[in-house]
Amino acid sequence: MEKTKVVTLLSGGLDSTVLLYHILAEGYQPYVLSVFYGQRHKIEISYARMICKNLGISQKILDITNINELILKGCLAGKEEVPFGHYEAENMKSTIVSNRNMILLSIATGYAATINAEKVFYGAHAGDHQIYPDCRKEFVKALDSAIYLGNLWENNNKSIELIAPFTEMTKADLVKLGIKLKVPFENTWSCYSGTTRPCLRCSTDIERTEAFIKNNIQDPALSNEEWLQAVKYYKEIVK
Ligand SMILES: [Zn+2]
Repeated sequence: MEKTKVVTLLSGGLDSTVLLYHILAEGYQPYVLSVFYGQRHKIEISYARMICKNLGISQKILDITNINELILKGCLAGKEEVPFGHYEAENMKSTIVSNRNMILLSIATGYAATINAEKVFYGAHAGDHQIYPDCRKEFVKALDSAIYLGNLWENNNKSIELIAPFTEMTKADLVKLGIKLKVPFENTWSCYSGTTRPCLRCSTDIERTEAFIKNNIQDPALSNEEWLQAVKYYKEIVK
């Protein structure tokens, strides 16, 4: 039987990579979309490419770099320093990219409609809720309705569904699932700083370190030395 086609966004980060492995485990045929929107952490995209190449799956890379003039205003555009600290802190608001997820999911939906894919997957998880409104369940539900209605043609009762399977899961839960699905975490990148190795101190690195600590394993993307440093920074922040 032919597998159901689905579209998923892959940034090269941990969440979207676990999502891709989850989609494969569920028996879907994923079409991967990676979007370059001028983010500071370009390195992520090369990790996304490696993941797809190793899995032998279709990946489109879309370059809309100059959208950054419109939607990047904080540190991710490279205009300010990336704040160090925990995700929940107020200064993390500068890591927001205006309306990013709706823009990217809208592009993914256009791709899905073109290739007759039935679903678009979205990797928002519970840890994102605190500061990112477009990672919350209410947003997913509303966008799912909009996508459904916007792609429901009269002569065809099929439409497109938005699926966000991780909205109730924490980052630690995602790492746990990733371990089960044999996700090559060493081929994922989370750091926001745009440096050649993870800075270990930005909010996303701290969150990642916390997730591995909670699973009692070392982050395979880091050397032993980097891991010790990451744990030290984490402990300084949560003490
Ligand atoms: Zn970092």
